[in-house]
Amino acid sequence: MRHVAIIGAGQAGSNLAAKLRELGFDGRITLIGDESHPPYQRPPLSKAYLTGKLAADRLALRGPSFYAERCIDLRLATKVTRILPADKRIELGPESLAYDGLVLATGAAPIPLPEAIGGSLANVFTLRTIGDVEAITPHIAAGKRALIVGGGYIGLEVAAALNQAAVDVTLVELQERILGRVAAAETAAYFRTLHAERGVKLLEGVGLVALEGQGSVGKAQLSDGSFVDVDFAIVGIGVRPNVALAEAAGLAVENGVSVDAQGRTSEAGIWAAGDCASFLWNGRRIRIESVPHAIDQAETVAANVLGAKRDYRPRPWFWSDQFDVKLQIAGLNGGYDRIVERKGAKPGSCSYWYFAGETLLACDAINDARAYMTAKKLIDAGRSPSPADVADGVLA
Ligand SMILES: Cc1cc2nc3c(=O)[nH]c(=O)nc-3n(C[C@H](O)[C@H](O)[C@H](O)COP(=O)(O)OP(=O)(O)OC[C@H]3O[C@@H](n4cnc5c(N)ncnc54)[C@H](O)[C@@H]3O)c2cc1C
Repeated sequence: MRHVAIIGAGQAGSNLAAKLRELGFDGRITLIGDESHPPYQRPPLSKAYLTGKLAADRLALRGPSFYAERCIDLRLATKVTRILPADKRIELGPESLAYDGLVLATGAAPIPLPEAIGGSLANVFTLRTIGDVEAITPHIAAGKRALIVGGGYIGLEVAAALNQAAVDVTLVELQERILGRVAAAETAAYFRTLHAERGVKLLEGVGLVALEGQGSVGKAQLSDGSFVDVDFAIVGIGVRPNVALAEAAGLAVENGVSVDAQGRTSEAGIWAAGDCASFLWNGRRIRIESVPHAIDQAETVAANVLGAKRDYRPRPWFWSDQFDVKLQIAGLNGGYDRIVERKGAKPGSCSYWYFAGETLLACDAINDARAYMTAKKLIDAGRSPSPADVADGVLA
């Protein structure tokens, strides 16, 4: 292997390049990203960075000289336009680059609001990049009215951040409750109360019919027949994996670029990692959209590019910050049939444990780092405490 090219200079791409060097790879590495910023963390974009509580220079994943010092050829503001697997080449517009190994780390893109319901009006945003935050921040001011479309983690984090900046926030969630795709009703209830107490208007089971306005958004028509005045809107209705390049090159794609346990795509010499990659988990092809997963999978793929033949074993965890509450999630809760609540030691802290039969799948720990760490250890080790012990017993 003489030249590894990585498409996508985000969390997975950056970690992969770094890991290749750490493992002693002394060939050429080209890390290509279509954004103009060196690889950075996305989580603060919907949290402290959105309202200016975190400086821009704290976002970068690595220091300014990191890539040059390791002879990683970081090409920013450069889009890969085509993969030619038969020739082992990629095209970057007019330029063509030969590779020996190729990794897709293209991430995911927010699902936009359809134009037919006002998605192309000015002041309607999605949130994925620093550029998106730069477009949103001029609208953040006390008394402005924001509509958040979608009650997943990003929508709720943005609602909390804007509320703390004295913006008047309405959040609409089409499903019967917030966090419907990702968390149990108990966790949703906790965050519903938190937001309501702080003055966020959370409307559940209410869809957006259309955004209206002359050029820029001024009003939202909702499915309950009401209208809300809106100065700007942020749409957080999920993401789609960036698979266009892979599809055009004939790679297998199913809910993302399909990879095997070692991160190999259907094409020899091409791997994928991070938000864009789907892998088998309990018989289903899933993707995990989280920083820890992007790092772990990228590092496993780096080893495999160099011939390790190592299977990736996800040990998922995730976090969300809303107001002064830290939610930490261990495991994947898909298929749970029972929730057990455990009270935390501190006021307001608690955790919800997801079981399928007697098997512990996941845990949502709310301001309870201890419960989170215990659950994570148990889940990683494949151990399940009894639900009774979880509720009020001692957990090893
Ligand atoms: C607002 C926000 C908050 C989040 N909060 C959390 C959190 O609290 N905790 C957590 O664990 N995770 C969080 N996440 C998710 C986490 O950031 C992602 O899972 C992670 O960034 C995925 O890394 P990635 O490298 O796969 O994709 P990305 O970081 O998206 O990187 C992919 C890069 O590839 C580029 N690219 C795509 N196509 C091309 C091409 N053809 N040519 C060149 N470049 C290309 C993209 O522009 C992008 O820069 C959050 C995400 C967002 C957007």
